[in-house]
Formats: sequence, C-alpha cells, structure tokens
Amino acid sequence: MIKPSYTDPLDWIEAADPTRFFLVNKMTYGDLRQNVAVMAGGLVANGVGAGDRVAAQTEKSPEALLLYLDCLWIGAIYMPLNTGYTATEIAYFVADAEPAFFVTDAVLAGLSGAAVARALADPEAQAAMLYTSGTTGKPKGAMIPRRALASNGATLAALWHFTADDVLLHALPVYHVHGLFVATNTVLAAGASMAFLEKFDVDAVFTAMPACSVMMGVPTFYTRLLQHPERLTAAARDMRLFVSGSAPLLAETHAAFSATTGHAILERYGMTETQINTSHPFEGPRLPGTVGLPLPGVDVRITGAVEGIGSIEVRGPNLFTGYWRNPEKTAEDRRDGGWFVTGDLGRFDDDGHLQIVGREKDLIISGGLNIYPKEIESAINALPGILESAVIGVPHADFGEAVVAIVVGDHSDILAALEGKLARFKWPKSIVFVPDLPRNAMGKVQKNLLREQFSLAFD
Ligand code: AMP
Repeated sequence: MIKPSYTDPLDWIEAADPTRFFLVNKMTYGDLRQNVAVMAGGLVANGVGAGDRVAAQTEKSPEALLLYLDCLWIGAIYMPLNTGYTATEIAYFVADAEPAFFVTDAVLAGLSGAAVARALADPEAQAAMLYTSGTTGKPKGAMIPRRALASNGATLAALWHFTADDVLLHALPVYHVHGLFVATNTVLAAGASMAFLEKFDVDAVFTAMPACSVMMGVPTFYTRLLQHPERLTAAARDMRLFVSGSAPLLAETHAAFSATTGHAILERYGMTETQINTSHPFEGPRLPGTVGLPLPGVDVRITGAVEGIGSIEVRGPNLFTGYWRNPEKTAEDRRDGGWFVTGDLGRFDDDGHLQIVGREKDLIISGGLNIYPKEIESAINALPGILESAVIGVPHADFGEAVVAIVVGDHSDILAALEGKLARFKWPKSIVFVPDLPRNAMGKVQKNLLREQFSLAFD
C-alpha cells in the first residue's frame, strides 16, 4: 500500500525493505541508503551545502541517478543538464545558476566521503532546478520543491497500482523530469525496483522486458518496438502496464500496440514545471488522442476558450515554485488562486478527458483565423501512405501566417484528399516531403527548427 502522507522522497528510501532491489541485480534499498549517504559525504567534502546548486552533465548511470538523491540528502539543489548541451550552452547555465559544484563523469566516478546524516528539510525547500526545453527564448530554470516530488510520486504510484513487486523498465534519460522524477519517484514511493538500462536500445529492451512489469516511455520508444512485432508480442507477455508521455502518442501507434501486445498504452500529460497533471485511470478507459483526467489533488481548467479550445491551466501540490531569478516570467504565467498557465491549448471531451491541441505558440493565425496544427496533422496522418506530419505557420505577406505541412510518407495529392474533411482556410499553402521529422531526445518534434528551415517559403 502506498502512503500518500509521505512528505519527502527520502522517506521512501527509509521505509523500503533494505533487502529488496532498488536497481535489479545492482543495488538493494539498503545499499541505496548507504551509497547516498557516502556520495552526499563526497558533496560535503567538496564544499557543497544546503541551498547550493549542484550542476551535472553526465552520462546515464546508477550514480548519475543517485546524485539527485545525494542532493536531497543534504538539502542541495540538483541541476541536471542534457548531455547534448554544448560548451556555449553550459556556459549560459553556469552563469545563470551559479552552481557551487559541477559534476562530470570523472568527478562522479570519484564522488565519496565520510557518510553524512540526512539533513532535516522543509517540504517547500527547492530540491532541483531543471532548465525547460525553451524552444523559444532563453531556457529558464524551473525551481522544483521537495513537496512536488513527494506528492507526484505518491499519487502516481497509487494511481498506477504500483507495489513493491513491480519492476520498471527504465530506458529514459535521467536529465529530464520523465526519467528522473516520474519514473524514479513512482518506483521509490512503492519500494519497487528498476531494470536500469543505459539508454533506449531495442535489443536491450527486448532482453530486459520479460523480467519487468511496467515500462514508461516516450512515443518513439513504442514506434521503434513496433518495428519488431513478433519480438514485442513475446517480450510483453508478462507486462502489466505501458505508460507514454512527453509528446503526443499517435492513435495509430496506440492501436498497433494494442493489436500486437493486447495492452492499451496508458497516456499521461506533464511538463517540467508541473511533473504529471493528468493521466488515464489504470482501470480505463485509455482513450487514444486524450491524456486522461486530472490527477487526484490536481485541478485543471481551460480558459479563454474559443469553440471549446483554450489555454490549459493547472494548480496543485505538483507545481514548481517559479523560474530561477526571473520573477517577471514567474508572475506572467500565474493567475489568481494559484493557477499556472501551461502554454498548452486543449479542451475537455464530454467525459472530462483532456485533449491537447498543441502548444499555444504553435497556434497559427492565418487571415485572422485560428488554425490548430494538430487538426491538420491528424487529417494528413490518416491518409494512406503517410507516416507522420508536422504543420507550422510561416510568415506570409497577405495572411500574416501561412500553413505549411511537412510530411513523411508518400501521397500524390494531399489537398484533393482533404477536400470535404478540412475547411479550405486550413489547407496547407505548401506541402514539403521530408525523410523524417527533427525530434529531441524526448521524442518531441522540434517545430522551431522546422520554422527556421521553412520560413522563407513565401518570401
Ligand atoms: P517538457 O517540459 O520538456 O517535459 O515539455 C512539456 C510539454 O510536452 C507539455 O507542455 C506538452 O506540450 C508536451 N507533452 C507532454 N506530455 C504530452 C502528451 N501526453 N501529449 C501531448 N503533449 C505532451
């Protein structure tokens, strides 16, 4: 049974059976507690204290994951950095965050000291700082309190029926909320285990899966596994749950996965600033194209709706406290009553399931009319021969913005096929075929890159 009253993620480590595995065949909960105290001692030996930022740019490893818990142990602020960041980008983060200590793989390998005792911590104290993907403007540091980590982990463990017998297949990166917090805290809250893979590799996933019960992934994990339907059917036989998030899961992927494995992928919606906001209930229905219901204790509302579609706002114990040294941006995204403006557009269906229509900044306004890329993408994706598409707005002298569709696949006359399905003002003014769409490590299509590449279409 999950105890939702826990107020701190470290309580889960103390409460777990020390003889059970945290990382399968690698580390028990007893080892975990000891390793965290020793690595935290290493941080202290390097002059790190409560409230200090600990920046880390490291490859995925058990120690890289533990660094998050080491920081919690002494009240320091964990600041993981995407392994893909360049020196110029790192220089920006270091100047902005002023970390007391920077952890590389070499530093991590030698990080140990006399074991230190766990510091008492305020649930509102900042536990971590994650820079948001920032597809426009400069990345901002989201300040995440301990309370948000504890409440989201406990809620998800209960909602998704985790028990100490679960084994999570962990193939996500650990510099992003999904692999770092959603996966880890759900496992810790239940005293469960992880099969911890260094990265997503189809062969490694198929090898590990028969000994696992749950997988959390981004949609690209599922499309890649589906390229090997027979191996997938066999490997998934004893799994009890597949979860997807971080980017939209196509209805086709959901259907193909269900046909191949008998499992309806459970989709949830979250972001760096809020962790998880909504999820399909374990008991279902797990409707493709929607991201479920607000989590227990979390409120979700739609504001400024036009024909039902509006801005998604959330509030609850899962929220971050603000952007680092940026009170203006923090205030800009808050509304009275504790609401946070997610920047996503959506609507509720008749049964109260949230549908995400896209990012507010991806909304196209052409000839004064609002056009939601997702609607056009869905219509194009449904055509025979089309694998996927991304619809963007590019500057246009007459219309303000023009709709451009970037398409993966093969189709002789997309516009003719859209006749009768989409109003003419939504039709792409230009269609470009490409071999694949640019995605980041979390599987999100990088529309900013597409806009840069194709914005000259109407000059
Ligand atoms: P990040 O802060 O990098 O995790 O990005 C968060 C954004 O990812 C959200 O604001 C959504 O736009 C998108 N996102 C996350 N989960 C989903 C989902 N299940 N379906 C569609 N978009 C999602």
